[in-house]
Amino acid sequence: MKKAVFPGSFDPITLGHVDIIKRALPLFDAIVIAIGVNADKKYMFSLEQRTQFIKDCFADEPKITVNKYTGLTVDYCKIIDADFILRGLRNPADFEFEKAIAQTNRKLSGIETVFLLTSADTSFISSSIVRDIMRNGGDASELVPKSVK
Ligand code: ADP
Repeated sequence: MKKAVFPGSFDPITLGHVDIIKRALPLFDAIVIAIGVNADKKYMFSLEQRTQFIKDCFADEPKITVNKYTGLTVDYCKIIDADFILRGLRNPADFEFEKAIAQTNRKLSGIETVFLLTSADTSFISSSIVRDIMRNGGDASELVPKSVK
């Protein structure tokens, strides 16, 4: 069974994430959307809220589950028996950052990272831009799934 972990903060999930997840569905038998919990990081939405946004968004998709994890992503992959990590690439900065992490992860564990290139119409979307808009009273509804709106 081909199982992938899509790790991230998802603070909150955006249409950029949704695009990557939907396009990855034909590639895998199961996708675990894994919310990394970092005690030192400040989030806008609680873990419960972020989980619920994702669950509501993919309620009709049996291949998708949502979970939280702490520690190294590769250790979490081993625990749940996933051989792949899924990540999205938006720009050269993402590539440079992701390259070192993916190579390290493969060295540590043999786990392959599968990258999907962002779609043209969602490439500009990031959770941090969404948070900025929300914090300043703007309307981010075009950038997030219905469950977040
Ligand atoms: P992290 O804190 O790990 O960066 P994010 O929740 O911001 O977590 O992102 C998780 C993954 O989703 C990353 O691989 C990121 O590149 C990808 N991603 C985020 N926004 C987009 C987008 N608009 N298009 C494609 N991939 C995206």
